[in-house]
Amino acid sequence: MEFRAERRRFRPVRFLVNVLNLMDEKQMASSPGKHYQARILERRDISPDLWIVRIDPGGPFEFRAGQYATLGVAHEGKRLERAYSIVSSPYEDALEFFVELVPQGDLTPDLFKLKKGDTLMCRKIAKGRFMLDLRSGRTNHLLVSTVTGIAPFVSYVRTLYRDWKSGDSPMPGNHKLYCLQGASRSWEFGYREELERYSNEAPWFKYVPTVSRPWEDSNWKGETGRVDDLLRKYAYEWGLRAEETTAYLCGHPVMVENARGILERAGWKKDTVFEEVYFQEAKSGSAGAG
Ligand SMILES: Cc1cc2nc3c(=O)[nH]c(=O)nc-3n(C[C@H](O)[C@H](O)[C@H](O)COP(=O)(O)OP(=O)(O)OC[C@H]3O[C@@H](n4cnc5c(N)ncnc54)[C@H](O)[C@@H]3O)c2cc1C
Repeated sequence: MEFRAERRRFRPVRFLVNVLNLMDEKQMASSPGKHYQARILERRDISPDLWIVRIDPGGPFEFRAGQYATLGVAHEGKRLERAYSIVSSPYEDALEFFVELVPQGDLTPDLFKLKKGDTLMCRKIAKGRFMLDLRSGRTNHLLVSTVTGIAPFVSYVRTLYRDWKSGDSPMPGNHKLYCLQGASRSWEFGYREELERYSNEAPWFKYVPTVSRPWEDSNWKGETGRVDDLLRKYAYEWGLRAEETTAYLCGHPVMVENARGILERAGWKKDTVFEEVYFQEAKSGSAGAG
């Protein structure tokens, strides 16, 4: 079992996001020997700007479910890299990622060009503390994400599912995971079918996806609205009380901020809301998907 209790908060979030996303040329040039040459084993496009990629990291790579890897490419003779949450379980050989193309971004346009067999850089060490809290005594886990922010949650669930099925390491105690995922349209969820399968089978996992632009997705029959707008409804429906529930917010900065406010007003204490913010919002940015 790869999980470990983590109660540390991720604030100051903006500082951390800046640091993680500004690991660029100068830093990288002065850190030889810290990277593997990874190779793309498989690539699956989900939408015009979302894709799933599985890589062979190129050497031994240890991580815990919820951590991130640092991927990069050579760009105009220099190295450019960013953090990406690992989707796969530590039980799997390949590392899997769910990536969104940011057309104005520095790295993702280069990552987007890579196909099966191509190489990229992968830092040898996994990082991050966004792991499942199995020690605090709170047995409910409310997982809230926008689009690619589902990545660490898939890693939690794949790991727990495998333990649960094998019977080697059954679900510890009465822990239960409740997952909400927001996206603009349903084809952006990436892992909906997989998560619905777990949710139909495992009594300890629930999953609800919601789309925020149903008018662009007329076949969608599920929940609508931004994921933070659904928080109160599902916390109530699932009977989640602050003192028994750790919350995990992952993805778009505006969702994280809104959801944190909602949870804190509903009684969640600061150190029971974990956050993984993927980027700092551009000044002209909108609230984004979900
Ligand atoms: C711990 C951690 C885990 C992460 N995991 C993932 C992951 O699993 N999948 C993933 O796709 N990304 C993930 N990210 C984000 C990733 O690290 C990059 O920031 C992202 O891929 C954009 O990189 P870029 O170089 O193309 O854009 P940048 O040059 O870094 O960004 C340019 C500008 O675009 C804006 N921007 C950046 N990302 C987005 C976005 N997604 N939507 C809208 N505007 C944006 C920002 O305002 C930024 O200033 C994670 C970030 C962190 C900190």
